[in-house]
Amino acid sequence: MSARIAVFPGSFDPVTVGHVSIVLRALPLFDRLVVAMGENTTKRYLFPLEQRLAWLKATFADRPTVEVMTYQGLTADLCERIGARYIVRGLRNSTDHGYERSIALMNHALRGVETIFLPALAEHAHISSTIVRELIANKADVSAFVPPAVRIA
Ligand code: ADP
Repeated sequence: MSARIAVFPGSFDPVTVGHVSIVLRALPLFDRLVVAMGENTTKRYLFPLEQRLAWLKATFADRPTVEVMTYQGLTADLCERIGARYIVRGLRNSTDHGYERSIALMNHALRGVETIFLPALAEHAHISSTIVRELIANKADVSAFVPPAVRIA
């Protein structure tokens, strides 16, 4: 049987404890989990690509079955390129669900890729990179919401 490879795509601007939780919970389901940071040319990021990538790599350095990479273009095309038949996404609320459902069905239609949804743990449901960025902009302490590898001066 071929290896079960999954992609966990995102912007990770920055990676949060919510993302880490999804990765660790998804790990036992797959042989390899590829954390794939999308480089969307039309999106504006707070942290440069190299910084976001370094934080992700440091966060999962002790997990041999987790790989970290960047990609451009469609997630479904990335899956095809690396032989991944699954995408992992976290769901925090019904807004996430409505949006993610359409994308999941489109990825299935495009490349036959199945999306596996994991519900955010209750203690992470309020955490998003967007809110963490807002806190950073206002000089708040975000250490409870990001993994230890993320150092924000
Ligand atoms: P995107 O720009 O693709 O939404 P994000 O980096 O914001 O990328 O999120 C990547 C994935 O992580 C998404 O599936 C999102 O739902 C999930 N996620 C983000 N924050 C949390 C959280 N606090 N708990 C669980 N899943 C989360």
